[in-house]
Amino acid sequence: MPAIHRLSDPLINQIAAGEVVERPASVLKEVLENAVDADSQAIEVLLEAGGVRRIRISDDGCGIDKGDLALALERHATSKIASLEDLESVATMGFRGEALAAIASVARTSITSRARGAGHAWRVEGTGRAPEPAPLNHGTVVDVQELYYNTPARRKFLKTEGTEFAHCDEAFRRVALARPDIAMQLTHNGRVSHRLPASDMTRRVGLLMGDDFLEHARAVSVEAGPLQLTGFASLPAYSRASRDAQYFFVNGRFVRDKLITHAIRQAYRDILHGSRHPAYVLFLQIDPRTVDVNVHPAKIEVRFRESRAVHQFVYHAVERALGHSGAAEAGGDAF
Ligand code: ADP
Ligand code: MG
Repeated sequence: MPAIHRLSDPLINQIAAGEVVERPASVLKEVLENAVDADSQAIEVLLEAGGVRRIRISDDGCGIDKGDLALALERHATSKIASLEDLESVATMGFRGEALAAIASVARTSITSRARGAGHAWRVEGTGRAPEPAPLNHGTVVDVQELYYNTPARRKFLKTEGTEFAHCDEAFRRVALARPDIAMQLTHNGRVSHRLPASDMTRRVGLLMGDDFLEHARAVSVEAGPLQLTGFASLPAYSRASRDAQYFFVNGRFVRDKLITHAIRQAYRDILHGSRHPAYVLFLQIDPRTVDVNVHPAKIEVRFRESRAVHQFVYHAVERALGHSGAAEAGGDAF
């Protein structure tokens, strides 16, 4: 056996990238979430070739100080948490300080940013470089080009441009649904595919899910102690053959969770055939100290401390929304 030695930083980052940067859509998710965390009011995404050739995200958020710019690309460097206490009640989308380092290790990455109040903007290209002055009026532009240019084995796992774009589109939708207060735009190969003005939740859901969904959905708005569920759940008439229109957010974070899926399924038990799937956009607000989001690097899984209570709450909230208003407004013949 060769002697044990420490891995180099670039190699450590590339290994971490295997977990965080699965495909262009995962880059888009991470960089979009950073823009959201930066208090942006408008975010613009530009994709080329399904995101493989280029993902460029511009925001008008708080920006990054010159002194922090190089650090932003370092592993385990974050401005979002500082202590275990912070980790236990994390309020931002990010907190691991891993994403940009991982992305920069597998793609040509630059960040241009102008911190609020700064005289002008600065730009860093890749890790280990000093920032240089750059032109930018406000906010941050993260430009990620040629994903996996240096890791051909991973590049081979990328699917067609169309498939990668579809995943990017999905990542964009998830953030856009959660943050209707932020104006968002997505352009692919020069064509605008979403232009979303800042609005309220209902309007944003209509733009992304279609008015047809809204017309065939019941509003959900239930509060019980520290738990709150809002959003829309489709009536059986709008059910689908696949689960492609199911969006569940926990404190603004899109998650896939067996417990939640089961609770919602249960609420539809008497009104939906087993082979059909409901469509929904639901937002659960819960005390952040009672949910662990640090289960998986992409944070798509969560763990609830009081999982039974959450299950019961979601089940009853959805069932009540479907039952009461559904039966009353549709004269009882909707089911
Ligand atoms: P995390 O989001 O977990 O903190 P990242 O690697 O995604 O880690 O980002 C590192 C740091 O870079 C963030 O903590 C933040 O301070 C800064 N940063 C990244 N993107 C932006 C942005 N768009 N606007 C302002 N700051 C940003
Ligand atoms: Mg981040």
